[in-house]
Amino acid sequence: NDLASLLDVSVNEIISVCMSLGMFVSINQRLDAEAITIIADEFNYEVEFSKADEDEDVEVVEDAPEDLEERAPIVTIMGHVDHGKTSLLDYIRSAKVTSGEAGGITQHIGAYDVMTDNGNKIAFLDTPGHEAFTAMRARGAKITDVAIIVIAADDDIMPQTKEAINHAQVAGVPMIFAINKIDKPNANPEKIKEQLANMNLLVEDWGGKYQSQEISAKTGQGVDDLLEKVLLEAEILELKANAHKNAVGTVVEASLDKGKGYVSTVMVQAGTLKIGDIMLAGEHYGRVKAMFDHTGKKVKEAGPSTPVQVLGLSGAPQAGDILKVYGTEREAREIANQRGQINREQSMRTKKHITLDEIGRRLAIGSFKELNIIIKGDVDGSVEALSDSLLKLSKDEVSVNIIHKGVGQISESDVLLASASDAIILGFQVRPSTNAKKLAEQEEIEIRHYSIIYDAINQIKDAIEGMLEPTF
Ligand code: GDP
Repeated sequence: NDLASLLDVSVNEIISVCMSLGMFVSINQRLDAEAITIIADEFNYEVEFSKADEDEDVEVVEDAPEDLEERAPIVTIMGHVDHGKTSLLDYIRSAKVTSGEAGGITQHIGAYDVMTDNGNKIAFLDTPGHEAFTAMRARGAKITDVAIIVIAADDDIMPQTKEAINHAQVAGVPMIFAINKIDKPNANPEKIKEQLANMNLLVEDWGGKYQSQEISAKTGQGVDDLLEKVLLEAEILELKANAHKNAVGTVVEASLDKGKGYVSTVMVQAGTLKIGDIMLAGEHYGRVKAMFDHTGKKVKEAGPSTPVQVLGLSGAPQAGDILKVYGTEREAREIANQRGQINREQSMRTKKHITLDEIGRRLAIGSFKELNIIIKGDVDGSVEALSDSLLKLSKDEVSVNIIHKGVGQISESDVLLASASDAIILGFQVRPSTNAKKLAEQEEIEIRHYSIIYDAINQIKDAIEGMLEPTF
């Protein structure tokens, strides 16, 4: 209806254009930017969007330089299963957390912060594994400053190690390698460094730029040095935040507690969250009723890089949702309602991620510049061959990026990476796991299967030339 009056045509004309594009819309339906552009084009109008999606960005208002203060780094620990992520998180927590009066019982709330021996603070996201990291990034959250990649020195660089490295690189997050289990007699840290070098990741001892530290998450050996290296990396990043404004943070975990109601763990990233503040996260809002730190101690406020458990939201937001404080309850409620409506409409609408069939349409409206691809195959040789050939398809208008490739089944983490990077997945002689398939359906990620390299190359080539015949 709104668009019809803007374009000065009847609502029926808009609806029939939509139908010809395969969209069945009602008079009150909200249209996305892309649809509006196409429809307007049909009536020879050009669209200019004056305001970007409100409130989604953490850094909306520029802070004055004098308001900025140093803030602690926020760290995520990733790596292959059984290489010691949980042990390292547990060791750091038990060794470094100054336990509250409550007998030092720490709760698992998804994040905690520690004080190093030199009195510096570091915040940890206590959700080991890159699935959580990438799921959050898929929701637009930029929360990790530094990634620690744990690699067991009695093992090798494993598939999930590679994935973790990949995920950190795609997100542009600096990495520190923690070579773990050096207390074991068969530990061979040099072998790990060599394997890293083979992946073009030269550690400092080998003349490269990546920091690495040999540690034992069991005895604690080297952990202090590792934390010092995290601080060094943080120093280079010059992490700063303005603590004197309304809080902005990211939801790390949320749940419904029988006694307390909805409980959300929030990592505050800027500003200070206080009791009584009106907060909004996703489509839920409310007043901050109470806050607890990770030792279960009540706190009245939480500043930048502080994880805190918050009570008072009207529902459970999703991990990765941005939490923001508003001046009035009315404002928060309006945005919450709007988001609720958009979410409901979007869940009924079509593809949010790229598919090969979509490329032609996006090319036509000039909004397509990069095709991100993930390749999984049964043998390394074909993965490499396919990847090399696809890279060669890049041209001036469209570049082809292989953001991840590997041997093995298509996993959930491949799908999450695809979702975070708007990529399609090509499976060469491999299938997705059941969970990956389910997730791909839910996230609307396209997985294409091939058994002949030539077919894959031809289809991608046709797609980026806008010539692919849609398949139904
Ligand atoms: P995750 O799957 O990466 O979280 O790995 P865990 O932290 O669960 O560790 C897997 C196993 O390795 C457990 O049995 C740990 O006790 C053991 N482990 C972890 N770190 C060390 C270490 O530094 N030295 C030794 N000897 N064992 C370790």
